[in-house]
Amino acid sequence: MSVIFFILGLFIGSFLNVVIYRLPRNESIISPRSHCPHCGKKIRFFDNIPVISYMILQGKCRYCKSKISPRYLIVELITAVALVSLYHIFGINMEMLFFSIFVLILITISFIDIENMKILNKIVLPGIAIGLFMTLIFRPDNIVQSILGMICGGGVLLSWFYIGKLLFRKESLGAGDIKFAALIGVFLGVKTTLIALFLSSLFFTLIAIFLISLKKAKLDSKIPFAPFLATGALVSMCFGNKLLSWYLNHFIV
Ligand SMILES: [Zn+2]
Repeated sequence: MSVIFFILGLFIGSFLNVVIYRLPRNESIISPRSHCPHCGKKIRFFDNIPVISYMILQGKCRYCKSKISPRYLIVELITAVALVSLYHIFGINMEMLFFSIFVLILITISFIDIENMKILNKIVLPGIAIGLFMTLIFRPDNIVQSILGMICGGGVLLSWFYIGKLLFRKESLGAGDIKFAALIGVFLGVKTTLIALFLSSLFFTLIAIFLISLKKAKLDSKIPFAPFLATGALVSMCFGNKLLSWYLNHFIV
């Protein structure tokens, strides 16, 4: 079963790649068929097999030999690993479907933010609506948690936004980050979202210190925040309760 979810994940990842490329460019995600962004040649179906085609073509277009972004490979593999992990955590049920949709949204928003430095309303707003709708349908008992999580996630980032503005006199977070945190709140509820936000700021600080020490970034460099929010959300979703009880056991006697 893991193998089936892995292969399914590769193909879904391949679709997410199309969304990640086309959505910021205002292109339709359904048609036309995929083409090389450099020479415009249509990509044949046998060159469009996840991972395998990328390996055979060695990350280059078959026709013009220009480099294909490694993002295609990375997104396919991350999606496949994510689906297999969700299957192992939840089994095959509505919870798995609910959290799979969540993870697909996280991956898409993160990679669009990495490439374009923005979080698009046309994905984050429908994402919030889908989260609320799916909670109502599949987990109606959680709807209050979901709404509180949304307010809490958005609220915390809004306060960070104002604190950052006061301390550094610049806008370090965008409105997109605030909406993205609200989306995470819808899917995770209050407690798990708070752990997710704590973890994402921790990861962000560590990576920023690392990049600055390597002189790859400066204090005023812009680093997309969505991938950190997404990573925090994933870790909190899988291990949030364990992390919290470990913390409480070790630091509060
Ligand atoms: Zn080409």
